[in-house]
Parts: sequence; structure tokens; C-alpha cells
Amino acid sequence: MDMKWFEEMEARIPHGKVRTRFAPSPTGYMHVGNLRTALYTWLIARHQDGTFILRIEDTDQGRLVEGAVDVIYKTLRQCGLDWDEGPDAGGPVGPYIQTERRDLYGKYARLLVEKGGAYYCFCDKAESAEDSGDFTKTADPCRDLPPEEALKRVAAGEPYVIRQRIPQTGSTTFHDASFGDITVENKDLDDQVLLKRDGLPTYNFANVIDDHLMGITHVVRGSEYLSSAPKYNLLYEAFGWEVPEYIHCSPVMRDAHNKMSKRHGDPSYEDLLAQGFLTEAVVNYVSLLGWAPKGENSEREFFTLRELAEIFDLAGISKSPAIFDIEKLKYFNANYIRALSPEAFFSIAQPYLKDAIHAPQVDIKLVAPLVQGRCDTLLDIAPQVDFFDTLPEYSNELYCHKKMKTDEPNSLEALNAVLPVLESLNEWSYDAIHDALMGLAKKLELKNGRIMWPVRTALSGKAVTPGGAVELCQLLGREEALARIKKGIAQLGG
Ligand code: GLU
Repeated sequence: MDMKWFEEMEARIPHGKVRTRFAPSPTGYMHVGNLRTALYTWLIARHQDGTFILRIEDTDQGRLVEGAVDVIYKTLRQCGLDWDEGPDAGGPVGPYIQTERRDLYGKYARLLVEKGGAYYCFCDKAESAEDSGDFTKTADPCRDLPPEEALKRVAAGEPYVIRQRIPQTGSTTFHDASFGDITVENKDLDDQVLLKRDGLPTYNFANVIDDHLMGITHVVRGSEYLSSAPKYNLLYEAFGWEVPEYIHCSPVMRDAHNKMSKRHGDPSYEDLLAQGFLTEAVVNYVSLLGWAPKGENSEREFFTLRELAEIFDLAGISKSPAIFDIEKLKYFNANYIRALSPEAFFSIAQPYLKDAIHAPQVDIKLVAPLVQGRCDTLLDIAPQVDFFDTLPEYSNELYCHKKMKTDEPNSLEALNAVLPVLESLNEWSYDAIHDALMGLAKKLELKNGRIMWPVRTALSGKAVTPGGAVELCQLLGREEALARIKKGIAQLGG
């Protein structure tokens, strides 16, 4: 075998810096667990001033989804997880899309056969078994074929797969940053398929080749890959390559017993955005699903991405599965919403406000600050402001408020007193309305609530509203506000 090409490939590998990669399969959405993997991978790189690489793992052709790679780009960008090397960014060890690396895996698989770490197998196998790489470990007659005979059959065009030659005795130990040393007996490991009949690698082979050729120093992935890790170690060893540091993350759970799963209705990152969560809140919350800050930050919950990059450490990653708690995420989200500047909140809330309020006189820019402090998610906006368009049917009981000392008769009196005062206003501004209503309360020697409560009730038909009587009057505009007060008077029997 001509080694020159392999030497050139080795020569391209950058050394001396931390290099991590996020290696998603293009499924069309971002699972919360995958987002966490991406985040931790990015944080490890950024914390150590390393390089973060995006690699697309699309060898499973059966699962390809149109536009799915764009979803990955978009999500990572939204989350602030910028990559230094990747399909679009380029880099010294590309291509960064596995199907574009197709020819390379065959070469390495054949090299491994030469090195004794793999063998050609000509047995008939179901395609599904090939795809999963999951052949049973009954002695394969091809395992002991003399190499020349195997090569002759290959040359004659006989279809084959390449399988890993796992030692039949001994054991393999690998190290994981959070799980520690794990040892397995080699006899319990399968001679897994590395290269399929169609020439494409299995995931189990491609990830080792790519991680090596891309100079990856830290591999972060889900703990579902733990059981395969010994086989990866044996591959690295058979090639004579250095094994990267492994960080396996326990699954993100829906409850104590079930993993989060899109198929079972659990939200993906995109679903969470559609449910009115902010990216920054999701990222902050997800960072704590399986990692906890230490020392002076151990009690802290709120971190920007930059702060996380500063303090992130492998020691904080937990072995125990984390439970995704939507209520906790709402708590994070509400805090992030409240912390936005009024301008930033308005630009985010604008589409929701526009969808909910059509009354032309209502200035949604003035509504925004009234709801900002009252939302767990952006979907909480619409139900709070629906009354601007249409006054709902409401019961007169709403007028009765113990603390405000209001009841139906005195609410009717209040509205009757308010109506001419507002009708006579020259200017329909916040200050004018405010002074008029307060002045009226003072004149009648009533507590403000005796006036404000009935007015707010008549204007909204709701027990709770963003904004009080004055704001609602101003926002609804003279005509609508007066019409609603008249309606209140009529409804109270006046
Ligand atoms: N493509 C694999 C996945 O999406 C990546 C696993 C890994 O990071 O090695 O699960």
C-alpha cells in the first residue's frame, strides 16, 4: 500500500491546541440533548482558547431530511455557538461533511485490514444489520481467510463489508472524564462492520477516522455511545493513534424513567422557540442540565454564554441524568424577558402583539412595557391583551372588590361621576386622564381605588390586566374608552 497519501493526511492534522467538534446528523431539528452536547463542546473549546469544529454526519442516507443542514447552521448561530471550521467555513482538515469524505474511509478501512485490525467479510447479511453494524459474534468464516484469498475475491468484484477484528481474549479499558475507567472483556465485543457494502462507513468507523484526522482532542457525546467506546479504543490502537479524551453526557430525561424524545412529544429547541422561550434562556437552562458550576458560582443560576465559557470545567459534568423541567425553564425565561431593555423586548414582542391587537388606535409600543414583567413566555402576551380588540362579556361581580371597597352600587356611582369628567377632557393624554381621575377621587373624598377599580373593570372586563385604569383609558382611545364606560354603566343598571 502506498503510504504517501496517508502521510499527507497525517501532516494536515493541527496539534497543540484543544480541538472539539459537534457532529450532528441532519435530522431537521435540534434535540435538547444535542443542543447540550453542542454547547458543552463549544464551551470546552472556548474555555481553553481552542478550536470548535462543525462536522455533518450524514452517512445514514435513509435518514436524510431536506434542508436539515440549514437547521443546524441556523440553530448554532442563534445560540451563539460559532464554529471555526466547518462545511461552510472551511478549514485545514476538510471536507467537513461525511458523505464528501466517502473515499477516504475505504482507504483507511483497507489500511486497517493490512494492519490486522479488520478483515473483509463476504457473508450475506441483511442490509439493516449492516447499517447498524450489528453482526452477531458467531465465528465468521471470513475472519480467518488467508489475506491473499480475500484480496483475490475483492479484485474479482465480489461484494464485501469490512469488519473490525476484535481480539478474542483480554480486555479493553477506556477512560471517560465523568465515568472514569471502564473495562470490558474483548470477548463481549462484536466484530462490528466498519465499511458497508455500498462503500460508506458505519458511524462507528467514521467517527474514529474523522476525529483522528481532524485532530479532535475532546469528544463530547451522549452516553448511549459509552458501550461502543471500547471498540473505538481498539480502532485507535490498531491504527497506532492517540485516543482523545472522552466526555459522555447522561441523557436529558423527561421524568425519572424516560429520556426526552421528540417522537414522544417532548419539545426540540425549535419547539421551545415556538412556545415563546428565548434562545438565551434555553441555552442558560440547558447548560445546567448535567453540569454545575463550582466554588463561588455554585449557587448561581444565571450566566451569559461568555460567562459560561470562562468558568466551564469538565469536573462539573455530572454522571446522573438530568430532568428537563419546563417550569424551571419558564422561570429562567421570565427572568430573561424581564432583563431585556424596553427596546429589545418590544422588538421581540412586536409580532405577538400585532397578532393579538388589531384595534388601530392602540399603540402596541405602549402596551409592550405593560406586559414585559408579566410573561413567563412570549405566548403569555396574547391572552393578557385580547380585551383591547373586543371587550369580553363579564359579570358585575368583577366590580366587587373587598380591598378596594367597591361593590355594584358604588361602582355605578363612580362610573357615572367619571363619564362627564372624561368627556370634558380636551386632551386625551396619560397625564390629563390621570389628573382628572385623581382629581375626581379627591373631590369626592374617596380612595383612588374606588374610582380606578370600576374604571379598569369597565374598560377591560377582566380581573387582571396589564396596566391600570389610566393606561387602559389612554391606550383604548377616547371613543372606545367612553363607549366601554357607558356600557359598564348600562350593565350596572344605570
Ligand atoms: N452523529 C452523531 C449523533 O448525532 C454524533 C455522535 C458523536 O458526537 O460522536 O448522535
